[in-house]
Amino acid sequence: MKSSIAAVLEIYACHAELSRGRQHAESPAPTRNDFQRDRDRIVHSTAFRRLVYKTQVFLNHEGDLFRTRLTHSLEVAQLGRSIARSLGLNEDLVEAVALAHDLGHTPFGHAGQDTLNECMQDHGGFEHNLQSLRVVDHLEERYPDFDGLNLTFETREGILKHCAKRNALLIEAQEPGGVAHRFLDGSEPSLEAQLCNLADAIAYNAHDIDDGVRSGLLKLSQMDEVPLFEQYKILTLQQHPLLAEASKSRRLLYETIRRMLSDQVYDVIDTTRQNLQLKNPQSADEARFAGPVLAFSQPMAERVQGMKSFLLKHLYRHPQVMETTTHAQVVVRELFEAYLSSPKEMSPDFYARQETPRAVADYIAGMTDRFAAREHERLTGCRLLA
Ligand code: MG
Repeated sequence: MKSSIAAVLEIYACHAELSRGRQHAESPAPTRNDFQRDRDRIVHSTAFRRLVYKTQVFLNHEGDLFRTRLTHSLEVAQLGRSIARSLGLNEDLVEAVALAHDLGHTPFGHAGQDTLNECMQDHGGFEHNLQSLRVVDHLEERYPDFDGLNLTFETREGILKHCAKRNALLIEAQEPGGVAHRFLDGSEPSLEAQLCNLADAIAYNAHDIDDGVRSGLLKLSQMDEVPLFEQYKILTLQQHPLLAEASKSRRLLYETIRRMLSDQVYDVIDTTRQNLQLKNPQSADEARFAGPVLAFSQPMAERVQGMKSFLLKHLYRHPQVMETTTHAQVVVRELFEAYLSSPKEMSPDFYARQETPRAVADYIAGMTDRFAAREHERLTGCRLLA
């Protein structure tokens, strides 16, 4: 691959000075562009600080060294920024989207989200990407004149990674031609947003292996059935035969993951450069109508898929993880029922809201793992999670 560490913004990148702007007009900041300002607002938000106590795969109390939503988001930002720089995309925007992309996640990872979605079936459902947008648009209370963080269109567009058509129509009605429009006209989000989606997958595949092995639920030898991992492990051992010793297994794991990460990053950069050459978008808007541009090569995409299937089977559905998942589902369901029947048990600003089921969903979604577990114990007298 061509080596390049250019920080020059290409024509197809989102340029801060060409931003479609914010919902509430604000005067420009003297020292920061609009995307840098978005990033700073995200970092200072309450929802961002909560990410440190929210589960990625392992519950927060299961160990101090496992990833949380916060460290995951930082890793996505790191990978995203380094790819953005190579491709001449906007690093500031990528960083803002990466740091915000999981703000709407419930406690207890996907188990919490799926359960909340079931609880909300008759009340419009629950989607975590949409919830991330709700957090930055409505739920953060930091400014005198408006709700939310008043982020730019481009950052909000990147945060809304998926959206059911039903919800897209609702957003479109309030914000015609806005962030949900692409789910109706079939266009893509900005290249920076596309990049964050890939960086997200690259990050969690790598760190879930690390955490899986650290937890003892995955064995290093078991990983040999995953081609994406095995090829780098073989290369590592060829160059560092001493790492075959049992006492060096952690270094072997890290070196293998490091090579795997680097190769995926280079693969995305090379494949995307080819796509850019082929499609030749002349602006960020043209890029939105060029189909998916940020991509893995076909062989890499297949190996990444193999890794995902492996992790699903052996880690996310590991009996030990499933046991916690079952408890987490009960906690979320019983919390939902408890607040729905006694809204006064919620904090006053949620209790004061008109639409109780949505207020309950927002309240639960904002909780950290440990707060949710404690609230559940307070309301039911039953301690399911430490
Ligand atoms: Mg993520």
